[in-house]
Amino acid sequence: SICTRFAPSPTGYLHIGGARTALFAWLYARHHGGEFVLRIEDTDLERSTPESVNAILEGMAWLGLTYDRGPFYQTEHFARYREVIQKLLDTGHAYHCYCTREELEVMRTEQMERKEKPRYDGRCRHRKEPREGVQPVVRFRTPEEGVTIVDDMVRGKVAFQNHELDDLIIARSDGTPTYNLTVVVDDMDMKVTHVIRGDDHLNNTPRQINILRALGAEPPRYGHLPMILGPDGLKLSKRHGAVSVMQYRDEGYLPEAVLNYLVRLGWSHGDQEIFTLDELVRLFDIAEVNQSASAINPEKLLWLNQHYIRTLDPDHVARELGWHLGQIGIDPSEGPEPRQVVLAQRDRCRTLREMAEASVFFYREFTEYDPKAWRKNLTAEALPVLQALHDGFRALGAWEKEALHQVVLHTGEMLGLKLGKVAQPLRVALTGGTASPSIDLTLELVGRDRTIARIERAQA
Ligand code: GLU
Repeated sequence: SICTRFAPSPTGYLHIGGARTALFAWLYARHHGGEFVLRIEDTDLERSTPESVNAILEGMAWLGLTYDRGPFYQTEHFARYREVIQKLLDTGHAYHCYCTREELEVMRTEQMERKEKPRYDGRCRHRKEPREGVQPVVRFRTPEEGVTIVDDMVRGKVAFQNHELDDLIIARSDGTPTYNLTVVVDDMDMKVTHVIRGDDHLNNTPRQINILRALGAEPPRYGHLPMILGPDGLKLSKRHGAVSVMQYRDEGYLPEAVLNYLVRLGWSHGDQEIFTLDELVRLFDIAEVNQSASAINPEKLLWLNQHYIRTLDPDHVARELGWHLGQIGIDPSEGPEPRQVVLAQRDRCRTLREMAEASVFFYREFTEYDPKAWRKNLTAEALPVLQALHDGFRALGAWEKEALHQVVLHTGEMLGLKLGKVAQPLRVALTGGTASPSIDLTLELVGRDRTIARIERAQA
C-alpha cells in the first residue's frame, strides 16, 4: 500500500515551502488511502533544535496535517545506519577513502584547470591498505557506466549519467552518516513508496536510487515540487512578509485559508479556486502539479481568508478569534460570546487579527475617541439625542435587538432627525469611532451597562 512521508530538518520554523511539501505528500497519501509518515531529520546536531521540532509539530497540527506514523527521529537510528554502511562495505558497494583535504583540493584544482567538472576521481576505490593516522570516510561506489533515470511524477523522466555522479560520502570520518545515506535507509525501512519533496533534492535522487539498488531494495517513486517564489519572482524570503506558517496564524489567517492557498501554489484543477479539504483529498493528482515555480500572492490569501471567515461554521471561527483576542490582552469572558462577534463582524474583516482589534470595545473601555469622529458627531446638537437614547435604553425591559431598534427609531422621530443623525453619535459614543457593525447589533453586543455608561461618558 501507498506510503508518503514528510522529512523536515528541524533547523527553523515550518515555512510555507515545507508546509506545501507536507500538504502534497499528505494529500497524495489520503487520496490513495495510504499512510503518511513524519520523520524528523535531526542528524545535524549543531543546527537541529527542540524548539524547531516543536514549531514543526505545532504548524502541522494547526494545519490539520495528521500523520499515521511517527514522528520518527533519525538520531534514534544511528545503529541502523552503521549497520547499513557496514553492509555496503562488506558487499563492495562502498569503500574507505583516505584522501586528505589537501589531496582533494589539488584534485579539484587540476580538474578545474582541465576545464572538467570537479568530482572525486575514485582513487581510493582499489586501495587495499589503510593509511596510517588517517580516519577514513566511507564512499559509495557509484556505477561507472549507464544512466540512472528518475521517472519523476511531476517532471517526467530525468536522466543522469552515472559517470557524472561522484562517489559520494556516506559516512564521515567520525563515522556519522550523511544525508543521502540516512534518507535512503529510512525510506526503505519505513516502506515509503512515494517520495514527494522540493526539487532542490532532484540531484540527490539518482544517488539515492543507486544506493537503494546496491542494497537490493526497490526505489520508491519520486515527485519533485517546483520552488515557491516571492510576488516579485525572486526566491522567497523573509522580506516578502510571512514565511512561517505560524506567522500566518499570528496575522489572523485561518488554517483552511492557508491550506487552500498552499495547494494552489503549484496545483490547479481547472479554474476552481476554493476547495474544501474533502474535495482536495478527492481531486488532488500529483501529475497535475505545475513544473514551473509559482509565486506567492498575498492578495489571494487575504481573499481566501475572507471567504473562509464568512462561510465556515462560526463556532470554529470563534475559537480562532478567541485566541486572537487573548493575544491582544482581552479576556473573552468579559464581553459577548466570540461567536456573536464573528456573526456581527465577519463581513467586515479580512483577517481575525483585524476582527479582534475591531472588537476591543465589546470587551473593555476604549481609551480615547477618534478625534475626527468625536468632532463631527459628538457636537452640542448631539446632546439631546444622547439624552433621549439614554432615557429610552434605561426604560427598556429586555436588552434585545428589535426593542433596541425601536428606541433608536423613536428617538429620531421624536426629535425630527434622520436615522443617521441618531445612529452616528450613538456609534461614536459606544465604540469611540465610526467603524462598527450595524447600530442594533453593536448595541446588543456592547450590552446594557456598558451602553448606558458610555452614553454618560459621551455627554460629559
Ligand atoms: N530533510 C530534508 C530537508 O529538509 C528533506 C529530505 C527529503 O525529503 O528527502 O530538506
